[in-house]
Amino acid sequence: MTAHPIALSPFPPSDALMDIGPKPPVVFVEGRGSRLIDRDGKSYLDFVQGWAVNALGHCPPEIVDTLARQAARLINCSPAFHNGPQLDLAARLAAVSGLDSVFFANSGAEANEGAIKLARKWGGKFRAGAHEIVTFRDGFHGRTLATMSASGKEKWDGLFEPRVPGFPKATLNDLASVERCLGPATVAVMLEPIQGEAGVVVADDDFLRALRALTTRRGLLLIFDEVQTGMGRTGKMFGFEHAGVRPDIMTLGKGLGGGVPIAALLADRAVCCFEPGDQGGTFNGNPLMTAVADAVVATIAAPDFLARVTKAGELLQRHLTRIADARLGGGEVRGRGLLRALDLGCDIAPAVVDEALRRGLLLNAPRPHLLRFMPALNVTDAEIAEMADGLDAVLRDILGGRAARGA
Ligand SMILES: *Cc1c(COP(=O)(O)O)cnc(C)c1O
Repeated sequence: MTAHPIALSPFPPSDALMDIGPKPPVVFVEGRGSRLIDRDGKSYLDFVQGWAVNALGHCPPEIVDTLARQAARLINCSPAFHNGPQLDLAARLAAVSGLDSVFFANSGAEANEGAIKLARKWGGKFRAGAHEIVTFRDGFHGRTLATMSASGKEKWDGLFEPRVPGFPKATLNDLASVERCLGPATVAVMLEPIQGEAGVVVADDDFLRALRALTTRRGLLLIFDEVQTGMGRTGKMFGFEHAGVRPDIMTLGKGLGGGVPIAALLADRAVCCFEPGDQGGTFNGNPLMTAVADAVVATIAAPDFLARVTKAGELLQRHLTRIADARLGGGEVRGRGLLRALDLGCDIAPAVVDEALRRGLLLNAPRPHLLRFMPALNVTDAEIAEMADGLDAVLRDILGGRAARGA
C-alpha cells in the first residue's frame, strides 16, 4: 500500500521496550479500514480496532486529512490559551450529549480521574464533605491509582497497595446492593452502561432507570463511564440513551479520537465546580487532537451513521448466534451495536485468538471463556461475514467437532 520502503526495527524487541506482558510476534506497519498489514506484508482482518478505539477504521480519510491540515496550522498553543478546534469540539459534544460543559483529557483513565475529582469537589462544597463513590464489581475505569481502586477487577486485589479509599463496591443490576453501599459519606454512583472489560455485561435499562431515580432521590451524582460505550459504539451516540436516562457526569475516550489519544469529561452546569488550579494538564485540549475528534464526532453524528451501526450489530449478532448454535451447543451472545461478546462455555478463548491471528484475523479475549468483538463502526457486511467464516473455521478445528459445553 505504501510507496516508501519501510525501515525494519529490530525484532524480537530488545530490553529498550519495558516488558509489561507478552505480545504476539507480529509487527504492524500499515492499516486501512478493517485491514492491518504486518512487516512481512501479511494482511489481517481487524475486529479489535485498538480495543474499540478506531471508530472509523484504520487511517480513515477524515482523520488523515484533518491531522495533516491541523498539523500544518497549529499543533499546540498551551492549555493556558483557547484554541479553535477545542472550542468547536466542546460545543459539538455538548450539543450531542445534552450535558453543558466539557473538560478534555488524554486518556479514559485521566477523564475518570477528573470525574472522581469533580464529584469529590462537589461533595466537599455542597454535601458536607461527602466523598465516597459507589462503583461496581468487575467494573473497569482505568489504570491510574484512583481508577484502579474505582475498578472492580478481582485480579487487582492487593496490587499497588494501599488502595485509594472511598470506592465501596456494588453488584451490577442489583439495586439493593447499591442501597447497602450508601451512607452519609456517599457523593456519587459511577458505572459503565456496559461493562466492557468484564466481558460485555450489559446494565439493564430498568436498573439504570432505577439507579437514576435512586441517586436523584438521595441527592447523589450519577456518573457514566462511557469510555468504551460512547461515540456510537452501541448504535446510539451514548450507551445511556438506550435506557432514556441522563447522567450528571460522563466520561469519553477510546472512539472519541478514532485512534488518536483524546478523552473528555462532561458534566451538567450545576456540577461544574472546579476552581482555578483544581484541574488541568499539559496536552489537554490541544488543537491537533481536538480537531481530529471534531471530525470523528461529526462523522458519527451524520444522518444514518448510527442506524448503520445498529444494523451491522444485528448482523454480527446473527452470525455469532449461528456459530454458537453450530459449534458450541448454544453459547451466549450478548452486547449492543458493535460491542458484542460470544461466551464459548470453556476456557479456549486465548487459543482461539492465537489461531485466528495465525490465520490473519484479529480477535480479543477479555476473559478465558469469552471473545469480544469491536470492529470499526463502518465495518461492511462482507467483512462481518468474512470474520464469521474465519472464526467458525478456527472453532471447528480447535473443538474438532465436539461441542464446547460439557466437553
Ligand atoms: C478503556 C477504558 C478505560 C481506560 O481508558 P484508557 O484510555 O486506557 O485510560 C476506562 N473505562 C472504560 C470503560 C474503558 O473501557
